[in-house]
Order: sequence, then C-alpha cells, then structure tokens
Amino acid sequence: MATLPSEVLGVPRPDWMEDDVAMLEDMASRWLEAEVVPHYDRYEKQEMVDRSAWEGAGAAGLLCASMPEEYGGSGGTYAHEAAIIEALGRTGTDGFGIALHNAIVAPYILHFGSEEQKQKWLPKMASGEMIGAIAMTEPGAGSDLQGIKTTAKKDGNHYVINGSKTFITNGQHANLIIVVSKTDPTKGAKGTSLMVVETDEVEGFRRGRNLDKVGLKSNDTSELFFDDVRIPTANMLGTEEGQGFAQLMTELPQERLLIANQAISMIERALAITIDYVKERKAFGKAVIEFQNTQFKLAELKSEATMARVFVNHCVGEHLKGQLSSTTASMAKYLTTDLQCKVADECVQLHGGYGYMNEYPVARMFRDARVQRIYGGTNEIMKLLIARSL
Ligand SMILES: Cc1cc2nc3c(=O)[nH]c(=O)nc-3n(C[C@H](O)[C@H](O)[C@H](O)COP(=O)(O)OP(=O)(O)OC[C@H]3O[C@@H](n4cnc5c(N)ncnc54)[C@H](O)[C@@H]3O)c2cc1C
Repeated sequence: MATLPSEVLGVPRPDWMEDDVAMLEDMASRWLEAEVVPHYDRYEKQEMVDRSAWEGAGAAGLLCASMPEEYGGSGGTYAHEAAIIEALGRTGTDGFGIALHNAIVAPYILHFGSEEQKQKWLPKMASGEMIGAIAMTEPGAGSDLQGIKTTAKKDGNHYVINGSKTFITNGQHANLIIVVSKTDPTKGAKGTSLMVVETDEVEGFRRGRNLDKVGLKSNDTSELFFDDVRIPTANMLGTEEGQGFAQLMTELPQERLLIANQAISMIERALAITIDYVKERKAFGKAVIEFQNTQFKLAELKSEATMARVFVNHCVGEHLKGQLSSTTASMAKYLTTDLQCKVADECVQLHGGYGYMNEYPVARMFRDARVQRIYGGTNEIMKLLIARSL
C-alpha cells in the first residue's frame, strides 16, 4: 500500500472529509490494491483495463458514488467522488477511467436528463453494465469547442448523427457516449446539443484505433466515427435543442476540480515513493537523502505540494457548497497539474537511472503526469478563463 498522503504532507483532514468519506477512500484504496494493482502491468500492455474490472468496481460500490440511491448510486456527494479519485491516484491506478465515468458523464445525465433517462441509464452505469464517455474533441477542434463539425439532424422522432471524434477516454469500452453535436450549425454555441448514443443499440457507429499514447497506457483512448447513426429524439439531454454549450459550461468546473484531485493525489504518491527511495539508496557512502541538494529539493516540493493540497481541499469544500467558480476551478487545474509535472520530473531525477526504468513506479508517474496539462481544457485555456476575471 502506498504511503498515505497525510503522512507525507501533514495537512489536517478538511471538514468535508467526514468519517464515511475517509472510510470510502480507505475501502477504495484497498479494493484497487487487491483487484486492480496485480493486473496493472498487463492493463498497461494491452492498453485498457479488463471489462470485468468495471463490473468489479460496480459491485464494490465504486461506480456512481454521488448518484442518488433511487438511480442505483450510493447517494453520496462530490466528496465521495474525490475520495475514489484520490484512491486511484494514491494506488497508481490512475489509468482506470472511473473518475470520468462517475464524476463527468453520470452528472450530465443526473443534472440534465429526464426522469426516464435517469432511470434507464444511471443504474446500469452504477453496476458497470454501461461504461460512460463524453465525446467533445474532434480532429479539427479541441480547445475551440465551438468549431466542432459533428451534426445531429432531426428526422421525425430520431436524430441522425454524422461526424468523428478523437482522443475519447474510455473510447473502446464505452457503450454510453455523450456526443457533443451541432443541431443547428448556423447558430454557433447556441446550436450545440448533447446527444446520448447507446452504442449497443445503433448502426453506423464505429470505434477507430485505440490510440498509442505517451502515458496513461492502461486507459483506452480512441477515435469514434458516426455515420448516419440514428438515435431516438428522447436521447437528447435537456428540454430543447441548443442547450449543449451551456450544459458543458455548467459541468466543466467539476471536471477541472477532479483533475486537481487526481493531480494532488499523484503528487503525494510521487513524494512518498521518492522519500522512501532516497532513504534507501546509497552514494558516496551515505544515503541520497543526506545530500543537501536532495533535502532542499524535497523541502521545496513538499512546501509547494502542501500549498496545493490546502487549495484543493478548499476548492472541494467550495464545490460542495455550490460556490466553486469557473475561475477558481481553472486555477486549481492549472496549478496542480503544472506542479504534478514538476514533482514527477524532480522525483525521476532523485531516482537517478532507475527513475527512467519502467519497472519503477516513478517512471510511469512521469509519463502519466504530462497529459494532465492538456486534457480537461489545456492549461493555456485555464489561464484565458482566469484572465477574464482580472
Ligand atoms: C489522453 C487524452 C484523453 C482525452 N480525453 C478526452 C475525452 O474524454 N473527451 C474529449 O472530448 N476530449 C478528450 N481529450 C481531448 C483534450 O481535451 C484536447 O486534446 C484538449 O482540449 C486540447 O485540444 P487539441 O488537442 O485540439 O489542441 P489545440 O486546441 O489544437 O491546441 C494546441 C495548442 O494551442 C494552444 N491554444 C489553443 N487555443 C489557444 C488560445 N486561445 N490561447 C492560447 N493558446 C491556445 C493549446 O493550449 C495547445 O497548447 C483527451 C486528450 C488526451 C490527450
């Protein structure tokens, strides 16, 4: 079991970390250690986790923790999702796409879905029978989401979807995909709608390559193609066409916060592993931690990580009160992921050559860290959003 973060940073438990949340984090860490960690090297090689791991997570109560019990969830809050997200980070199983399924995809259905949609999809997402993905990015449009070309045209009581998406997390496993589409390409943001595609039910849907990434190897990230895919009009999220962009803007702060939770848990793990390593490793007749450079580096990183942890805890607290602004969520995402990359790089350095060997966990942490500055809105886009508040 990885060293618990509190042992590394010593930041007191925040108020929102009530006993049931702490117990869930402990239970999730133990479940991941027992059921996922032993297979993780294989998942990295096959570039996806086993389908059975999703069902196992569902049976263990780790899917849809913040969804109401009436829809098969555990009736928790974002605090419970944060506990699970951080358990993934601290056990080094961050490539298992539960966080996106739980805390990004399911909330769109809960917040914007009709009663019928919630009853139909959420219990299956809670059991792992359905795996969620959200498809915004296209080959020609990532940061500039208004530039997407995928269309959903109404035809009687169906929408017909045409277009292609790329870089979609859970893209090989997902069978419930929220597709960001243009219902009226002449209207810009106001012509955007969110369409739920149940891939087992439709024709014309095709998965492309499972993309060969630098890191986060155990997550399936894919191209998706929609060729005259017909879905019932009842699969649109929202009461009328054109609400998609506003729906995205409402949910994106939580997506950014969850990336910050991922980042801080992985920072704590990197520090814990590295502190252990430099205490063991000898050079010039003494432990590497006895060099002043090692101490200063780790003192700097611990100080910055402590500030980041306090800030992330504050952001979670604000979010639970419904008061997390888009600006603050963007700060959390950008600051923690920049720090994660810095910490991972310095921790590799303190491991010397072993840090560059894939069999050492810190090497994978270095590779996995890099994408955190790119997805969920790049850190440049985060700065644009923060700058709007100046
Ligand atoms: C592993 C992985 C998983 C992903 N998962 C998903 C997913 O599940 N669903 C999904 O929809 N997408 C997903 N993405 C896509 C991700 O969100 C996009 O890659 C990201 O938003 C950037 O878009 P882009 O790649 O098109 O880069 P571009 O938008 O082409 O950006 C290129 C560069 O230009 C900069 N830039 C762009 N606009 C500006 C500006 N206005 N000012 C300053 N700089 C700017 C960017 O910051 C970047 O540095 C994933 C990506 C990866 C790598």
